[in-house]
Amino acid sequence: MDIQQNEDIRSRIRTIPDFPKPGILFRDITTLLLDPEGLRLTIEKMAAQVDGKVDLVAGVEARGFVFGAALAVRLGTGVLLIRKDGKLPGATIAEDYALEYGTDRIAIHADALVPGARVLLVDDLIATGGTARAAVRLLRKAGAEVVQASFVVDLPDLGGADALRSDGIQVASLVAFE
Ligand code: AMP
Repeated sequence: MDIQQNEDIRSRIRTIPDFPKPGILFRDITTLLLDPEGLRLTIEKMAAQVDGKVDLVAGVEARGFVFGAALAVRLGTGVLLIRKDGKLPGATIAEDYALEYGTDRIAIHADALVPGARVLLVDDLIATGGTARAAVRLLRKAGAEVVQASFVVDLPDLGGADALRSDGIQVASLVAFE
């Protein structure tokens, strides 16, 4: 699919310059979520890109939860919450990843996955891929087979989608901002 075709999605995403810091063009999907037609189209199109059988959708905190849960309903699966460390009440498995300054950690419940489960990873946006790659390592450590990663927005210049592909993950997105 030509990602430039999804003007109906692209036009509903707002760009806010210099957030959270100078020089960043923040691609704000809250405007897409507020629009009933935008939300419906997004989930339909993400579902249409799913290739093969999926047992579970995994959404990354926090905007990945919204798209992940809606997509899970559409695909007839449950949704697994990949949270910032320290938020989940049960025993967890965690994975660290590098930020521009320092590191961060994401976690899932240790008993959340059946080994061999075919998981679709979902987030709103992929930039450097640091978050999504850590999520893939975490899901694999827990015994999942990550069959695909789906994003509303790809920032291809930052190389995250290519890095994920080099990790053996099929990557789908609806719009790219150069
Ligand atoms: P990364 O780990 O670099 O791929 O960053 C991905 C995460 O950061 C996603 O969860 C996005 O929500 C957020 N993010 C990074 N860059 C942007 C941006 N330019 N606009 C909106 N969200 C962003």
